[in-house]
Amino acid sequence: MYTYSRLTDDIAYLLRCGAEAGSIGYSESGRIIPYVRVGNRKGAKTIVTGGIHARENVTCALVMRQAAYALDKGVPDGSVYFVPMVNPDGALLIEYGADFFKEKSGFLRQVNGGSDDFALWKANSDAVDLNVNFDARWASGIQNVKNPAPQNYVGSFPFCARETAALRDFTLEIMPDCTVSYHAKGRELYWFFHQSGWRKTRDLKMARYINRKLSYKLMDDFTSSAGGYKDWCVDTLKIPAFTVEIVSDEKTHPLSDDALSEDEWERNKDLPLIINEYLTRLDK
Ligand SMILES: [Zn+2]
Repeated sequence: MYTYSRLTDDIAYLLRCGAEAGSIGYSESGRIIPYVRVGNRKGAKTIVTGGIHARENVTCALVMRQAAYALDKGVPDGSVYFVPMVNPDGALLIEYGADFFKEKSGFLRQVNGGSDDFALWKANSDAVDLNVNFDARWASGIQNVKNPAPQNYVGSFPFCARETAALRDFTLEIMPDCTVSYHAKGRELYWFFHQSGWRKTRDLKMARYINRKLSYKLMDDFTSSAGGYKDWCVDTLKIPAFTVEIVSDEKTHPLSDDALSEDEWERNKDLPLIINEYLTRLDK
């Protein structure tokens, strides 16, 4: 498992290698949610996130590896902001179990059906599913639930979770030209959230372009989910935003570390750089 402590070690290393690093804010349990920026101050800005769903831990390893790769290769066209683990509490819950969260341990175990095995948990330490907590047709998704749960609980109001409020505020501060949200699994690329007209044309064209290297299934006109980070970016910021589901559906959760295969890495390693290059070319 790509642990929170490994993440903070790796970020400290990239900082020593010349990347900019910082925090987008704090999790419910007070853990820093780190980011790494690679590139220069001119040109396109892209935010790449991983690990918003706890059990999709392979996405944290992927985004961190992308950050190291981008630093090594250089980002000629603007900046990429990598946020490898949006949900550190979820990762810590899987790693250490409910007792790690002291006074919340009874609540967490109860929500988890009495079990101390949190390997399939997706939510944060308040049992809010962060990727349905954004203010984008909030609580209208087909799978949404209205009570604390290991997954799909929308929270008591949009951005009630500290993690989603932090990602919203960070995004509004950066004002990116594009965002990429990594999830697992299914090998799918999502780009649509009720946009129409020229924005729909623009975003579909870009989805097709970036999918040349990914070769995933392009999910056109998908409307059964809501409240995700990508949804909010499309809806509020009116930018192209993508959800990328890595890993073949033949694998089952909980995913082992080797689910991030070399094939998966090859398809994804250049994605942030391809996006920045594409956006910079559009701008000229
Ligand atoms: Zn997910």
